[in-house]
Amino acid sequence: MDAPRLLVIDDDPQVADFMTEVACLSGYSVTTVQRRADCEACLAANAPEVIILDLQMPEMDGVEFLRWLAERRITAGILLVSGADVRVRNAARRLGTELGLRMLGTLQKPVRLAELEEVLQQTRQSLPSAQNLETALAERQFVVHYQPQIALDSPAGTVVGMEALVRWQRPGGGLVPPLEFIPLAERSGLIDVLTEYVLEQVLAEITAWRGQGLEFTVAVNIAPILLERLDLPDHYAELVRRRGIEPAALKLEITESGAMQNAARTMDILTRLRLKGFALGMDDFGTGYSSLVQLYRMPFSEIKIDKSFVLECERNEEARVIIRTCIDLARNLKLAVCAEGVETEAALKLLRSHGCTHAQGYYIGRPMPAAEVPKWTAGWMKRATVVA
Ligand code: C2E
Ligand code: MG
Ligand code: MG
Repeated sequence: MDAPRLLVIDDDPQVADFMTEVACLSGYSVTTVQRRADCEACLAANAPEVIILDLQMPEMDGVEFLRWLAERRITAGILLVSGADVRVRNAARRLGTELGLRMLGTLQKPVRLAELEEVLQQTRQSLPSAQNLETALAERQFVVHYQPQIALDSPAGTVVGMEALVRWQRPGGGLVPPLEFIPLAERSGLIDVLTEYVLEQVLAEITAWRGQGLEFTVAVNIAPILLERLDLPDHYAELVRRRGIEPAALKLEITESGAMQNAARTMDILTRLRLKGFALGMDDFGTGYSSLVQLYRMPFSEIKIDKSFVLECERNEEARVIIRTCIDLARNLKLAVCAEGVETEAALKLLRSHGCTHAQGYYIGRPMPAAEVPKWTAGWMKRATVVA
Protein backbone atom coordinates (compact mmCIF):
# COMPACT_ATOMS: atom_id res chain seq x y z
CA MET A 1 0.00 0.00 0.00
CA ASP A 2 2.71 2.41 1.07
CA ALA A 3 5.28 1.35 -1.58
CA PRO A 4 6.86 4.41 -3.23
CA ARG A 5 6.11 4.73 -6.95
CA LEU A 6 8.89 4.46 -9.44
CA LEU A 7 8.74 5.06 -13.17
CA VAL A 8 11.29 3.41 -15.47
CA ILE A 9 11.69 5.17 -18.83
CA ASP A 10 13.87 3.07 -21.14
CA ASP A 11 13.31 1.92 -24.70
CA ASP A 12 15.36 -1.28 -24.34
CA PRO A 13 12.91 -3.95 -23.08
CA GLN A 14 15.67 -6.08 -21.53
CA VAL A 15 17.18 -3.22 -19.57
CA ALA A 16 13.72 -1.97 -18.58
CA ASP A 17 12.79 -5.47 -17.33
CA PHE A 18 16.00 -5.76 -15.35
CA MET A 19 15.56 -2.39 -13.65
CA THR A 20 11.89 -3.06 -13.01
CA GLU A 21 12.67 -6.34 -11.31
CA VAL A 22 15.40 -4.87 -9.11
CA ALA A 23 13.17 -1.92 -8.15
CA CYS A 24 10.26 -4.24 -7.28
CA LEU A 25 12.56 -6.31 -5.08
CA SER A 26 13.74 -3.10 -3.42
CA GLY A 27 10.16 -2.38 -2.39
CA TYR A 28 8.93 0.01 -5.09
CA SER A 29 5.73 -0.11 -7.04
CA VAL A 30 7.03 0.11 -10.60
CA THR A 31 5.61 1.29 -13.92
CA THR A 32 7.62 1.02 -17.15
CA VAL A 33 7.34 3.23 -20.18
CA GLN A 34 9.20 2.62 -23.44
CA ARG A 35 7.92 5.47 -25.59
CA ARG A 36 7.98 9.16 -25.02
CA ALA A 37 4.35 9.46 -26.11
CA ASP A 38 3.26 7.45 -23.06
CA CYS A 39 5.17 9.50 -20.50
CA GLU A 40 2.68 12.31 -19.98
CA ALA A 41 -0.31 10.10 -19.20
CA CYS A 42 1.84 7.89 -17.01
CA LEU A 43 3.22 10.80 -14.99
CA ALA A 44 -0.28 12.16 -14.47
CA ALA A 45 -1.77 8.83 -13.48
CA ASN A 46 1.03 7.62 -11.22
CA ALA A 47 2.64 10.73 -9.73
CA PRO A 48 5.90 8.76 -9.29
CA GLU A 49 8.26 9.70 -6.49
CA VAL A 50 11.29 8.39 -8.39
CA ILE A 51 12.06 8.29 -12.14
CA ILE A 52 14.82 6.23 -13.72
CA LEU A 53 15.51 7.90 -17.06
CA ASP A 54 17.52 6.54 -19.96
CA LEU A 55 19.31 9.55 -21.46
CA GLN A 56 19.37 8.10 -24.98
CA MET A 57 16.10 7.01 -26.49
CA PRO A 58 15.40 6.92 -30.22
CA GLU A 59 12.60 9.49 -30.32
CA MET A 60 13.71 11.38 -27.28
CA ASP A 61 16.77 13.39 -26.44
CA GLY A 62 17.30 13.03 -22.68
CA VAL A 63 18.26 16.67 -22.23
CA GLU A 64 15.10 17.83 -23.97
CA PHE A 65 13.18 15.46 -21.79
CA LEU A 66 14.72 16.96 -18.63
CA ARG A 67 13.56 20.37 -19.83
CA TRP A 68 10.11 18.93 -20.47
CA LEU A 69 9.98 17.53 -16.91
CA ALA A 70 11.14 20.86 -15.49
CA GLU A 71 8.43 22.77 -17.38
CA ARG A 72 5.86 20.50 -15.76
CA ARG A 73 7.47 21.10 -12.35
CA ILE A 74 7.90 17.40 -11.77
CA THR A 75 9.04 16.91 -8.17
CA ALA A 76 10.07 13.23 -8.46
CA GLY A 77 13.71 12.35 -7.78
CA ILE A 78 15.47 11.55 -11.06
CA LEU A 79 18.14 8.93 -11.61
CA LEU A 80 19.87 9.12 -15.01
CA VAL A 81 21.19 6.04 -16.75
CA SER A 82 23.31 6.18 -19.86
CA GLY A 83 26.07 4.48 -21.79
CA ALA A 84 27.72 7.88 -22.30
CA ASP A 85 30.90 8.61 -20.37
CA VAL A 86 30.86 10.03 -16.89
CA ARG A 87 31.46 13.63 -18.00
CA VAL A 88 28.39 13.63 -20.22
CA ARG A 89 26.28 12.04 -17.50
CA ASN A 90 27.48 14.56 -14.94
CA ALA A 91 26.78 17.45 -17.30
CA ALA A 92 23.21 16.18 -17.76
CA ARG A 93 22.81 15.82 -13.99
CA ARG A 94 24.03 19.39 -13.40
CA LEU A 95 21.70 20.66 -16.09
CA GLY A 96 18.77 18.92 -14.35
CA THR A 97 19.71 20.61 -11.06
CA GLU A 98 19.96 23.98 -12.84
CA LEU A 99 16.47 23.45 -14.22
CA GLY A 100 15.16 22.93 -10.68
CA LEU A 101 14.75 19.16 -10.88
CA ARG A 102 15.59 16.89 -7.97
CA MET A 103 18.50 14.85 -9.38
CA LEU A 104 19.41 11.68 -7.49
CA GLY A 105 22.51 10.73 -9.46
CA THR A 106 23.66 8.86 -12.55
CA LEU A 107 24.38 5.24 -13.38
CA GLN A 108 26.61 3.85 -16.11
CA LYS A 109 25.08 1.41 -18.60
CA PRO A 110 25.24 -1.58 -18.52
CA VAL A 111 23.84 -1.06 -15.03
CA ARG A 112 25.41 -3.20 -12.31
CA LEU A 113 23.00 -4.95 -9.97
CA ALA A 114 24.77 -4.01 -6.72
CA GLU A 115 25.01 -0.37 -7.70
CA LEU A 116 21.35 -0.10 -8.69
CA GLU A 117 20.23 -1.83 -5.49
CA GLU A 118 22.29 0.50 -3.36
CA VAL A 119 20.96 3.67 -4.99
CA LEU A 120 17.38 2.47 -4.82
CA GLN A 121 17.69 1.56 -1.17
CA GLN A 122 19.29 4.87 -0.23
CA THR A 123 16.60 6.74 -2.15
CA ARG A 124 13.87 4.78 -0.49
CA GLN A 125 15.19 5.63 2.94
CA SER A 126 15.22 9.34 2.12
CA LEU A 127 11.59 9.39 0.95
CA PRO A 128 8.91 10.23 3.48
CA SER A 129 7.00 7.18 4.66
CA ALA A 130 3.42 6.87 5.87
CA GLN A 131 4.89 6.51 9.35
CA ASN A 132 6.70 9.89 8.99
CA LEU A 133 3.48 11.51 7.80
CA GLU A 134 1.50 10.10 10.67
CA THR A 135 4.01 11.43 13.18
CA ALA A 136 4.04 14.78 11.40
CA LEU A 137 0.25 15.00 11.66
CA ALA A 138 0.29 14.09 15.33
CA GLU A 139 2.95 16.77 15.92
CA ARG A 140 1.12 19.33 13.76
CA GLN A 141 4.11 19.89 11.49
CA PHE A 142 1.96 21.12 8.60
CA VAL A 143 1.45 24.78 7.78
CA VAL A 144 -1.08 26.29 5.42
CA HIS A 145 -0.03 29.07 3.08
CA TYR A 146 -2.50 31.29 1.25
CA GLN A 147 -2.34 32.54 -2.31
CA PRO A 148 -4.54 35.49 -3.32
CA GLN A 149 -7.22 35.31 -6.00
CA ILE A 150 -8.46 38.55 -7.55
CA ALA A 151 -11.53 39.48 -9.59
CA LEU A 152 -10.93 40.57 -13.18
CA ASP A 153 -14.50 41.61 -13.83
CA SER A 154 -16.08 44.31 -11.72
CA PRO A 155 -14.63 45.66 -9.58
CA ALA A 156 -11.38 44.65 -11.25
CA GLY A 157 -8.44 43.98 -9.00
CA THR A 158 -10.38 43.27 -5.81
CA VAL A 159 -9.00 40.47 -3.68
CA VAL A 160 -11.90 38.06 -3.44
CA GLY A 161 -10.31 34.96 -2.05
CA MET A 162 -7.31 32.91 -1.05
CA GLU A 163 -6.32 29.38 -1.97
CA ALA A 164 -5.12 27.30 0.97
CA LEU A 165 -1.98 25.35 0.06
CA VAL A 166 -0.47 23.00 2.59
CA ARG A 167 3.27 22.59 3.26
CA TRP A 168 5.15 20.25 5.53
CA GLN A 169 7.61 21.90 7.87
CA ARG A 170 10.01 19.03 8.57
CA PRO A 171 11.92 19.53 11.83
CA GLY A 172 15.42 20.64 10.95
CA GLY A 173 14.51 20.70 7.25
CA GLY A 174 12.90 23.09 4.84
CA LEU A 175 9.29 23.39 3.73
CA VAL A 176 8.29 20.32 1.74
CA PRO A 177 5.94 21.16 -1.17
CA PRO A 178 2.58 19.34 -1.25
CA LEU A 179 3.23 17.30 -4.38
CA GLU A 180 6.00 15.49 -2.47
CA PHE A 181 3.63 14.15 0.18
CA ILE A 182 -0.02 14.44 -0.97
CA PRO A 183 0.19 11.32 -3.18
CA LEU A 184 1.58 9.39 -0.20
CA ALA A 185 -1.16 10.79 2.05
CA GLU A 186 -3.73 9.61 -0.49
CA ARG A 187 -2.26 6.14 -0.77
CA SER A 188 -1.81 5.62 2.94
CA GLY A 189 -5.29 6.80 3.91
CA LEU A 190 -3.94 9.83 5.79
CA ILE A 191 -5.42 12.38 3.36
CA ASP A 192 -8.61 12.41 5.42
CA VAL A 193 -6.86 13.60 8.56
CA LEU A 194 -4.62 15.97 6.62
CA THR A 195 -7.57 17.65 4.88
CA GLU A 196 -9.37 17.93 8.20
CA TYR A 197 -6.29 19.65 9.62
CA VAL A 198 -6.18 22.10 6.69
CA LEU A 199 -9.90 22.85 7.03
CA GLU A 200 -9.51 23.49 10.73
CA GLN A 201 -6.72 26.02 10.06
CA VAL A 202 -8.67 27.65 7.22
CA LEU A 203 -11.83 28.12 9.29
CA ALA A 204 -9.80 29.67 12.12
CA GLU A 205 -8.16 32.08 9.64
CA ILE A 206 -11.48 33.05 8.05
CA THR A 207 -12.70 34.06 11.52
CA ALA A 208 -9.48 35.93 12.29
CA TRP A 209 -9.52 37.80 8.95
CA ARG A 210 -13.16 38.75 9.40
CA GLY A 211 -12.17 40.30 12.71
CA GLN A 212 -9.91 42.56 10.64
CA GLY A 213 -12.59 43.40 8.10
CA LEU A 214 -11.33 40.97 5.44
CA GLU A 215 -14.02 38.89 3.72
CA PHE A 216 -12.50 36.12 1.64
CA THR A 217 -13.75 32.96 0.05
CA VAL A 218 -11.08 30.39 0.82
CA ALA A 219 -10.42 27.58 -1.63
CA VAL A 220 -9.42 24.23 -0.15
CA ASN A 221 -8.08 21.38 -2.28
CA ILE A 222 -10.03 18.18 -1.88
CA ALA A 223 -8.46 14.97 -3.14
CA PRO A 224 -10.93 13.08 -5.36
CA ILE A 225 -10.37 10.01 -3.21
CA LEU A 226 -12.28 11.77 -0.41
CA LEU A 227 -15.37 11.85 -2.59
CA GLU A 228 -16.05 8.26 -1.63
CA ARG A 229 -17.42 9.24 1.76
CA LEU A 230 -21.17 9.73 1.61
CA ASP A 231 -21.19 11.54 4.94
CA LEU A 232 -18.76 14.21 3.70
CA PRO A 233 -21.37 16.94 2.96
CA ASP A 234 -22.94 16.65 6.42
CA HIS A 235 -19.56 16.52 8.05
CA TYR A 236 -18.27 19.66 6.31
CA ALA A 237 -21.58 21.46 6.95
CA GLU A 238 -21.20 20.66 10.64
CA LEU A 239 -17.57 21.89 10.69
CA VAL A 240 -18.52 25.32 9.31
CA ARG A 241 -21.67 25.57 11.42
CA ARG A 242 -19.68 25.00 14.60
CA ARG A 243 -17.48 27.94 13.64
CA GLY A 244 -20.42 30.16 12.74
CA ILE A 245 -19.23 30.42 9.14
CA GLU A 246 -21.55 30.07 6.16
CA PRO A 247 -20.65 27.29 3.67
CA ALA A 248 -20.32 29.78 0.79
CA ALA A 249 -17.12 31.07 2.41
CA LEU A 250 -15.47 27.79 1.37
CA LYS A 251 -14.71 26.74 -2.16
CA LEU A 252 -13.80 23.08 -2.52
CA GLU A 253 -11.37 22.60 -5.40
CA ILE A 254 -11.40 19.15 -6.89
CA THR A 255 -8.89 17.91 -9.39
CA GLU A 256 -10.51 16.07 -12.23
CA SER A 257 -9.04 12.66 -12.02
CA GLY A 258 -9.20 9.05 -12.90
CA ALA A 259 -9.94 8.50 -9.24
CA MET A 260 -13.53 9.66 -9.83
CA GLN A 261 -14.42 6.19 -10.88
CA ASN A 262 -17.60 5.89 -8.96
CA ALA A 263 -19.37 8.64 -10.89
CA ALA A 264 -22.77 8.14 -9.26
CA ARG A 265 -21.37 8.43 -5.77
CA THR A 266 -19.20 11.43 -6.65
CA MET A 267 -22.20 13.15 -8.21
CA ASP A 268 -24.29 12.43 -5.13
CA ILE A 269 -21.66 13.96 -2.83
CA LEU A 270 -20.92 16.98 -4.99
CA THR A 271 -24.61 17.76 -5.50
CA ARG A 272 -25.27 17.66 -1.77
CA LEU A 273 -22.23 19.88 -1.10
CA ARG A 274 -23.66 22.44 -3.54
CA LEU A 275 -27.15 22.16 -2.03
CA LYS A 276 -25.62 22.93 1.34
CA GLY A 277 -24.10 26.09 -0.11
CA PHE A 278 -20.40 25.23 -0.68
CA ALA A 279 -18.80 26.54 -3.85
CA LEU A 280 -17.15 23.87 -6.04
CA GLY A 281 -14.22 24.46 -8.34
CA MET A 282 -12.84 22.05 -10.93
CA ASP A 283 -9.07 22.37 -10.56
CA ASP A 284 -6.43 22.02 -13.28
CA PHE A 285 -9.10 22.09 -15.96
CA GLY A 286 -7.95 20.74 -19.30
CA THR A 287 -5.25 18.37 -18.06
CA GLY A 288 -7.05 15.37 -16.65
CA TYR A 289 -9.58 12.85 -17.74
CA SER A 290 -12.82 13.54 -19.61
CA SER A 291 -12.96 17.13 -18.44
CA LEU A 292 -16.06 17.90 -20.43
CA VAL A 293 -17.95 14.87 -19.26
CA GLN A 294 -17.14 15.67 -15.64
CA LEU A 295 -18.12 19.29 -16.13
CA TYR A 296 -21.37 18.29 -17.74
CA ARG A 297 -22.28 15.80 -15.05
CA MET A 298 -21.08 17.46 -11.88
CA PRO A 299 -22.46 20.64 -10.32
CA PHE A 300 -19.31 22.77 -10.38
CA SER A 301 -19.59 26.52 -9.88
CA GLU A 302 -16.13 27.41 -11.19
CA ILE A 303 -13.43 26.06 -13.43
CA LYS A 304 -9.75 26.77 -12.90
CA ILE A 305 -7.74 26.88 -16.09
CA ASP A 306 -4.61 24.85 -15.51
CA LYS A 307 -1.42 26.82 -15.11
CA SER A 308 0.36 24.89 -17.88
CA PHE A 309 -1.74 26.84 -20.44
CA VAL A 310 -1.52 30.16 -18.64
CA LEU A 311 2.28 29.96 -18.24
CA GLU A 312 2.57 29.48 -22.01
CA CYS A 313 -0.03 31.99 -23.14
CA GLU A 314 2.35 34.72 -24.28
CA ARG A 315 4.40 32.53 -26.58
CA ASN A 316 2.05 29.80 -27.68
CA GLU A 317 -1.00 30.39 -29.86
CA GLU A 318 -2.42 26.95 -29.04
CA ALA A 319 -2.34 27.71 -25.33
CA ARG A 320 -4.23 30.93 -26.07
CA VAL A 321 -6.86 29.03 -28.07
CA ILE A 322 -7.40 26.62 -25.20
CA ILE A 323 -7.66 29.46 -22.70
CA ARG A 324 -10.20 31.31 -24.87
CA THR A 325 -12.22 28.13 -25.32
CA CYS A 326 -12.28 27.45 -21.57
CA ILE A 327 -13.41 31.01 -20.87
CA ASP A 328 -16.18 30.79 -23.50
CA LEU A 329 -17.27 27.45 -22.14
CA ALA A 330 -17.45 28.83 -18.60
CA ARG A 331 -19.38 31.89 -19.75
CA ASN A 332 -21.90 29.80 -21.67
CA LEU A 333 -22.39 27.47 -18.73
CA LYS A 334 -22.63 30.49 -16.40
CA LEU A 335 -19.64 29.40 -14.33
CA ALA A 336 -16.90 31.53 -12.84
CA VAL A 337 -13.48 30.94 -14.41
CA CYS A 338 -10.19 31.43 -12.60
CA ALA A 339 -6.83 31.32 -14.36
CA GLU A 340 -3.97 30.04 -12.20
CA GLY A 341 -0.27 30.56 -12.94
CA VAL A 342 -0.49 34.25 -13.88
CA GLU A 343 3.14 35.31 -13.76
CA THR A 344 3.15 38.48 -15.87
CA GLU A 345 1.17 41.63 -16.46
CA ALA A 346 0.79 40.66 -20.13
CA ALA A 347 -0.85 37.35 -19.18
CA LEU A 348 -3.20 39.15 -16.80
CA LYS A 349 -4.23 41.62 -19.50
CA LEU A 350 -4.76 38.87 -22.04
CA LEU A 351 -6.99 36.91 -19.64
CA ARG A 352 -8.96 39.98 -18.80
CA SER A 353 -9.48 40.89 -22.44
CA HIS A 354 -10.94 37.43 -23.05
CA GLY A 355 -13.41 37.80 -20.18
CA CYS A 356 -11.76 35.59 -17.55
CA THR A 357 -13.46 36.38 -14.24
CA HIS A 358 -10.68 35.60 -11.71
CA ALA A 359 -6.91 35.25 -11.60
CA GLN A 360 -4.25 33.81 -9.33
CA GLY A 361 -0.50 33.65 -9.76
CA TYR A 362 2.94 34.86 -8.78
CA TYR A 363 2.41 38.20 -10.56
CA ILE A 364 -0.39 38.94 -8.12
CA GLY A 365 0.98 37.21 -5.05
CA ARG A 366 2.83 34.06 -4.02
CA PRO A 367 1.49 31.67 -1.41
CA MET A 368 2.25 33.24 2.02
CA PRO A 369 1.73 32.47 5.70
CA ALA A 370 -1.68 33.53 7.07
CA ALA A 371 -0.15 36.25 9.21
CA GLU A 372 1.11 38.09 6.11
CA VAL A 373 -2.26 38.17 4.36
CA PRO A 374 -3.72 41.39 5.88
CA LYS A 375 -0.59 43.43 5.13
CA TRP A 376 -0.30 41.99 1.63
CA THR A 377 -3.97 42.77 0.93
CA ALA A 378 -3.59 46.40 2.05
CA GLY A 379 -0.53 46.77 -0.20
CA TRP A 380 -2.27 45.16 -3.15
CA MET A 381 -5.34 47.36 -2.91
CA LYS A 382 -3.04 50.38 -3.27
CA ARG A 383 -1.49 48.88 -6.40
CA ALA A 384 -4.70 47.41 -7.82
CA THR A 385 -4.92 50.14 -10.44
CA VAL A 386 -2.49 48.01 -12.53
CA VAL A 387 -5.45 45.78 -13.27
CA ALA A 388 -8.20 48.35 -13.65
P1 C2E B 1 -3.21 23.47 -7.28
O1 C2E B 1 -4.41 23.32 -6.41
O2 C2E B 1 -3.44 23.53 -8.75
O3 C2E B 1 -2.50 24.80 -6.75
C1 C2E B 1 -1.80 25.70 -7.55
C2 C2E B 1 -0.32 25.43 -7.51
O4 C2E B 1 0.28 26.31 -8.45
C3 C2E B 1 0.33 25.76 -6.16
O5 C2E B 1 1.44 24.90 -6.02
C4 C2E B 1 0.80 27.18 -6.38
O6 C2E B 1 1.86 27.57 -5.55
C5 C2E B 1 1.25 27.10 -7.83
N1 C2E B 1 1.21 28.42 -8.47
C6 C2E B 1 0.36 29.42 -8.23
N2 C2E B 1 0.61 30.49 -9.01
C7 C2E B 1 1.67 30.14 -9.77
C8 C2E B 1 2.41 30.84 -10.79
O7 C2E B 1 2.16 31.99 -11.15
N3 C2E B 1 3.42 30.15 -11.38
C9 C2E B 1 3.72 28.88 -11.02
N4 C2E B 1 4.72 28.30 -11.64
N5 C2E B 1 3.06 28.19 -10.07
C10 C2E B 1 2.04 28.83 -9.44
P2 C2E B 1 1.72 24.11 -4.66
O8 C2E B 1 1.45 24.95 -3.48
O9 C2E B 1 3.05 23.47 -4.80
O10 C2E B 1 0.59 23.00 -4.71
C11 C2E B 1 0.62 21.99 -5.66
C12 C2E B 1 -0.62 21.14 -5.59
O11 C2E B 1 -0.70 20.40 -4.37
C13 C2E B 1 -1.90 21.94 -5.66
O12 C2E B 1 -2.16 22.30 -6.99
C14 C2E B 1 -2.90 20.93 -5.10
O13 C2E B 1 -3.32 20.03 -6.10
C15 C2E B 1 -2.05 20.16 -4.10
N6 C2E B 1 -2.38 20.63 -2.75
C16 C2E B 1 -1.94 21.70 -2.06
N7 C2E B 1 -2.51 21.78 -0.84
C17 C2E B 1 -3.34 20.71 -0.75
C18 C2E B 1 -4.24 20.22 0.27
O14 C2E B 1 -4.42 20.79 1.35
N8 C2E B 1 -4.93 19.06 -0.02
C19 C2E B 1 -4.81 18.42 -1.22
N9 C2E B 1 -5.52 17.30 -1.41
N10 C2E B 1 -3.99 18.86 -2.19
C20 C2E B 1 -3.26 19.98 -1.97
MG1 MG C 1 -6.18 24.11 -6.28
MG1 MG D 1 -4.41 23.88 -10.18
